[in-house]
Amino acid sequence: MIVGIDLGTTNSLVAWLTPNGPELIPNSLGEYLTPSAVGIDRDGQLLVGRAAKELQVVAPERCATVFKRLMGTDRKVSVADKTFRAEELSSLVLKSLKADAEKHIGQEVTEAVITVPAYFSDLQRKATIHAGQLAGFNVRRIINEPTAAAIAYGLHELQKERVALVFDLGGGTFDVSILDQFESTLEIKASAGEIFLGGEDFTRTLASQILAAKGMNFEHTETRHPQLVSRLIHECEKAKRRLTTGEDASVKFPDTDGLVSESSESVTVSRTDFLRWTESLLAKTRLPLQRAMSDAGLTRAQIEDVILVGGATRMPQIAAMLKEIFGREPLCQLDPDHVVALGAAIQGGLVHLDSAVTEMVVTDICPFTLGVEVSKDIAGTNRGGYFSPLISRNTTIPVSRMETFCTTTANQSTVKIRVFQGEGRRIDDNLFLAEFELKGIPRGPAGQVITIRFTYDLNGVLEVEAAADGSGSKASCVITHHAQNLSPEELKRAIEKLQELKVDPAEDQVNRHVLKWADRVYRELSGDARRMLEMLITGFEEALALQDPSAIENHRTTLEQFLESVDPSIE
Ligand code: ADP
Ligand code: MG
Repeated sequence: MIVGIDLGTTNSLVAWLTPNGPELIPNSLGEYLTPSAVGIDRDGQLLVGRAAKELQVVAPERCATVFKRLMGTDRKVSVADKTFRAEELSSLVLKSLKADAEKHIGQEVTEAVITVPAYFSDLQRKATIHAGQLAGFNVRRIINEPTAAAIAYGLHELQKERVALVFDLGGGTFDVSILDQFESTLEIKASAGEIFLGGEDFTRTLASQILAAKGMNFEHTETRHPQLVSRLIHECEKAKRRLTTGEDASVKFPDTDGLVSESSESVTVSRTDFLRWTESLLAKTRLPLQRAMSDAGLTRAQIEDVILVGGATRMPQIAAMLKEIFGREPLCQLDPDHVVALGAAIQGGLVHLDSAVTEMVVTDICPFTLGVEVSKDIAGTNRGGYFSPLISRNTTIPVSRMETFCTTTANQSTVKIRVFQGEGRRIDDNLFLAEFELKGIPRGPAGQVITIRFTYDLNGVLEVEAAADGSGSKASCVITHHAQNLSPEELKRAIEKLQELKVDPAEDQVNRHVLKWADRVYRELSGDARRMLEMLITGFEEALALQDPSAIENHRTTLEQFLESVDPSIE
């Protein structure tokens, strides 16, 4: 069985292709969106998703979020007393989605198509494949998020050529991609974006304005009263969502311990205020839009469909801005936060049924320029450190490019090939990927010819080959031995380490979530309500300890109903 997974910075989703089309799979809480959050509880229990987010409110040091940004780097994230690499944390999210899918489908799920942003480098793609492997998946294909969104809208099935623009505003990142559908091939023509722009910025702006109205500075307050600010952001997140449909929303102002209660002061924000405060954030999306269009060599009039992706595109000002720019309503029949997972599920089905796959060749783009270091003869002296591109940014992949270079000194028998990624003229400005040596170059004067070939495949994996003309000497490297990639032994060790974590069976996850929720609300209540809550929690804990399923269910339902009625965060 194969599934499609949208492994997001903020939220992740899993979907599969049923005879009735692609369908999302709910998690153990019955929700389609699983926050990409990992936590470790005081008893060493692993928490993923909503439960980890609840724990984050009270014990931020026990939780990790937004680790997708660190994919493909060596950075370690500490969670409670353990440290993890981004791909390990991602694998825990994937594992939880895998378990949800297996429970829902009723059979083992071993294969997956996982989506990544179009700008992900080959290291980041590799890290994503590793995360999948750590979770126990055979990762059949990594596809770009905008490609998946276009597939979900059936663009690959259209008979005539069509150009679409995918506008993806997620929690923390913004991506624009331009796709061309032609003879059942989907091709990304260009992609652009901002790595630090997303729905969270709209939330933080709202929080910062509310603080400003009280004469408080965001940064200062955050340093002095981190709990107040983190809780205020939590409240602003809900207000922001209400403002997508309502004209105004109220925000409860937390105390310095980050608690809100019935008697907390509440601030009312109108849609007009919110639009005015976030106008400049919205304006920031225009530059990448223009760059993508000019990279693709297209004008606004040539864009036929505009597809909305990402939870933050639910804010009505986004569609309004796009309508003003392109003169047409963006496509939004599908839920913008579901569309990537749905497309991945379709792609998964196509990969699985070999017959269907041949009918649709999905091409993608190489998001960065790839090349090698060369030296240049400048005013009679030979200077190294220059970048010579072989595959330029936004080239359609799979692609293979060859170029010839020359040795620079007489009788040079070896040459070091150093591979870089980036847009800078000098290698110092670019990211080093790998290096290897080509030996056995025939002796002779400077100027012996060396051919270098770059092959970039659909999974974003780069292979570099070098050959000395006239001698038959060859050397090559597939970019895997890089520090940021796990070796098979490291992969094995990482799997063992992750297996040490205790994971609740699915039924227990619901219980644990309710307990986490109760813990947080307990801190915010006082008097009779708090005493009542204490009693209900104890009753529930007793039922859990006795392992009596019907008692557990009854106590949990009562506790949930009580929480819903008293949680100051719920309107
Ligand atoms: P990612 O791709 O980064 O995982 P998502 O596509 O799940 O992110 O989008 C998450 C963002 O969407 C969050 O910033 C959230 O605030 C925002 N969002 C979700 N629903 C709404 C809504 N109804 N109104 C405004 N913003 C929303
Ligand atoms: Mg996303």
